[in-house]
Amino acid sequence: MALLSSNKYEHRQIELAIEVLERAVENHTKWLQSVHESIICGLPVDKEIIADNAHENCKLGLWYYNEESDVFRHHIEFVELEEPHRVMHDAARELLQVTQKQPALEDYRAFIQKQQSVIQQLLKLKDKLVGTFHSFDSLTGAINRDAFNIIVVNEQARVKRENGCCCLALIDIDHFKDINDRYGHVAGDHVLRSFALMIKQYVRKSDTFCRYGGEEFVILLTETSLSDAFNLIESIRKTIMATEFEISEQLALKIQFSAGVSECKPGDKIENCLARADHNLYQAKQAGRNQVVS
Ligand code: GH3
Ligand code: MG
Ligand code: MG
Repeated sequence: MALLSSNKYEHRQIELAIEVLERAVENHTKWLQSVHESIICGLPVDKEIIADNAHENCKLGLWYYNEESDVFRHHIEFVELEEPHRVMHDAARELLQVTQKQPALEDYRAFIQKQQSVIQQLLKLKDKLVGTFHSFDSLTGAINRDAFNIIVVNEQARVKRENGCCCLALIDIDHFKDINDRYGHVAGDHVLRSFALMIKQYVRKSDTFCRYGGEEFVILLTETSLSDAFNLIESIRKTIMATEFEISEQLALKIQFSAGVSECKPGDKIENCLARADHNLYQAKQAGRNQVVS
């Protein structure tokens, strides 16, 4: 699974990036077809293909050099696409500049090899993006539990290495089953989605917001003291309590949650921190729900 370091991207951003990449691959394939038409069928060579800056002006290049999305820029596989692509254009120029006569077999093979490097790099990037995409829960857009388990282990190592700290907050919606029972599963899904969206607004990019399962979420707050974590979750709780979640024109629902917060110090095992947060969540439920225990 691709490793997500944090809540850097939105689920939808990754989905869009994959679409953009697929279009780039499609355009590149079309371009390649025109090169082959020139070689095999002797069609006149497009001047743009043999221009010095062909790698900047082909469709793949136009996308590559103008792409501003962090989703791409933060992926090393994107950065590393530049070289094979440029080198491949050099090989295409070499091959096609020899006009009127059949290109040498070795030049053709060199071009094909370079072409394969570009394709491999594009596939590597796509695999990475697809892996990242699968790190999200599709209903809420929060990171899923599998991805979270990897992030949290890395965070435990970071806390130890840097003599830092982090906090975990386990959040469980109160009496959520009643919402499903009274208004239906679709309404329940709607509430989960809106709830997650609202919480995300409170979470920094360096933190990690995860759907831990069902109506239970966990937030990993990096470099945050226990009192700051408590205050943050408490303010989210108050905001959620005061919010009306609009399900339809006729129906708006209010919900509440309980939460357990724990701190992870250097040398602490993350499983123990999670167990402490879980214990505190249990205490919050036992004490009547709609509260945060740290
Ligand atoms: P408590 O206050 O003790 O947490 O009560 P609760 O009703 O929230 O807890 P319980 O564990 O009894 O029920 C959780 C419910 O969440 C049951 C399950 O059907 C529902 N649920 C889990 N995942 C989803 C989902 O993806 N969509 C919807 N609509 N419901 C879900
Ligand atoms: Mg619940
Ligand atoms: Mg639950």
